[in-house]
Amino acid sequence: MRYPKLRELKEAVISLLTPAYTTRFPAVDHVPFENFRGKPVVDEENCVGCETCANVCPPNAITFTDDTEKRVRIMRRDYGKCIFCGQCQEHCITGKGVKLSDKIFDIAGTDRSVVVEYQEKELLICKNCGAVITTREHIEFLHRKLGPKAFSSVLNLNVLNDRLKLADDSDTEVEIKDGLKRKDMFNILCPNCLRLVLVKYL
Ligand code: SF4
Ligand code: SF4
Repeated sequence: MRYPKLRELKEAVISLLTPAYTTRFPAVDHVPFENFRGKPVVDEENCVGCETCANVCPPNAITFTDDTEKRVRIMRRDYGKCIFCGQCQEHCITGKGVKLSDKIFDIAGTDRSVVVEYQEKELLICKNCGAVITTREHIEFLHRKLGPKAFSSVLNLNVLNDRLKLADDSDTEVEIKDGLKRKDMFNILCPNCLRLVLVKYL
């Protein structure tokens, strides 16, 4: 019984004379170590609104809502739920859409709403059936990534036409009636409607 008490006393004296292992944050600024996983920071220029990060986020901190009336995809990132796992960064299709900061880590507070961020991206919607295809930035990213191979997809022809204005507005905005026509391929049609056009006319 005597020895353990002396050992504890020794430990207490050592603890008193050595500096604390923990940092003195917030009294003293904390400098995180290299590759520290802090708050995810979105790069609006390089995020195309593709939904991939929402699909891999374990606690569902990232959610998407498509507003087909306003033609926008609203992305909601709730850092109150974030576990800083880095999956969103790891799986981002552009590789630069979101990165975990090694500087921003102090996001604790009493108001949960201040740690919720929103983004909006323009949606591409099929003019025939109204189905959501994806965001405009997403399809343009795929177009750039594929290079000339992109033109093997009719969907990319739509985007190219949209950008280069190969056909004038009256051609691109033809009203789609009951029977889909080949000219309708220059509208933004979803893969299902395109298939109907191709089966019928090609
Ligand atoms: S995966 Fe990347 S590009 Fe896609 S929505 Fe997430 S951050 Fe944006
Ligand atoms: S770091 Fe993990 S938990 Fe946080 S938003 Fe990204 S995927 Fe979700």
